[in-house]
Amino acid sequence: MNSKTNRTSLDSSDTLIIETIRKSNGETVTKKYNKGQFLGKGGFARVYEFTELENKIIFAGKIIEKASLIKSRARQKLMSEIKIHKSLQHQNIVKFEHFFEDTENVYIILELCTNQTLTELIRRRKRLTELEVQCYIIQVVSALKYLHAHRVIHRDIKLGNLFLTDKMEIKMGDFGLATKLEYDGERKRTICGTPNYIAPEILEGKGGHSYEVDIWSLGVLAYTLMIGRPPFETTDIKTTYRKIRMNSYAFPEHIPLSEEAKSFVKSILITDPESRPTLDEILNHSFLKKNSIPKLMPASTLAVPPSAS
Ligand code: ADP
Repeated sequence: MNSKTNRTSLDSSDTLIIETIRKSNGETVTKKYNKGQFLGKGGFARVYEFTELENKIIFAGKIIEKASLIKSRARQKLMSEIKIHKSLQHQNIVKFEHFFEDTENVYIILELCTNQTLTELIRRRKRLTELEVQCYIIQVVSALKYLHAHRVIHRDIKLGNLFLTDKMEIKMGDFGLATKLEYDGERKRTICGTPNYIAPEILEGKGGHSYEVDIWSLGVLAYTLMIGRPPFETTDIKTTYRKIRMNSYAFPEHIPLSEEAKSFVKSILITDPESRPTLDEILNHSFLKKNSIPKLMPASTLAVPPSAS
């Protein structure tokens, strides 16, 4: 199947994007999208609301300028992101609808997450209650279990890559650093990740790394949601890396936290990847083993903590 696009200006801000899909039997179909509100900007992409005109469904349309993909590494990274993301289907992973291109851009059509990411949530709320952390971590673990079962390591689990839908459901996104292992015992050697969330074995670089790097980032994520900033954060990267290698972090005394919550984080942030808990062990920690954890949080928690009732 083959596709190309035409862009027609409707007014100053909205643009009509027409995708022509040529099927293998020679038939052509077109899909028209109205490019609307700007949603955000990433390393290479600008993301807008894309309304599919026939069914009026609103998606997130990621536009990547081909001019930014001149370096072969950037192009390879995008192709790998598309190939991996396309193959995934899970309740807690941003749904990849499809992609197409024209002479200037590559377009990726994704499930729309209207409530931004956990970065904006933490910015507004400063930190979350333990109940919210439990609710969100369970959803992230569910996505990770699916990924790891399909031999995919995300390698960039962090607040900004965890989106919230209109129903306040967590959707993991951005597979730009993800990798798919050829076989289970394979070790990866590329140094990647986001400084604050990077696992110690990636910094050591000795025996390579595997699935356990996502588990480490999950521990960093849990701490960050509870405290409002990452455990190893400092003003310079070198010091942050030293702190990660030394596993040096503390729970600030002025933030009230249950012993169970602290024990949860401590049980995950284990320097030796082999000794780190599995995702099932994490789900069996008493912090997450409670009947009272809701499946979803109400939208009011975008602005204020959930009520105690
Ligand atoms: P990059 O891969 O280039 O870093 P991102 O995937 O991080 O780009 O997207 C950049 C920004 O676009 C995000 O921070 C977010 O604001 C917005 N965005 C991305 N995907 C979606 C989506 N599915 N729904 C809503 N907004 C999105």
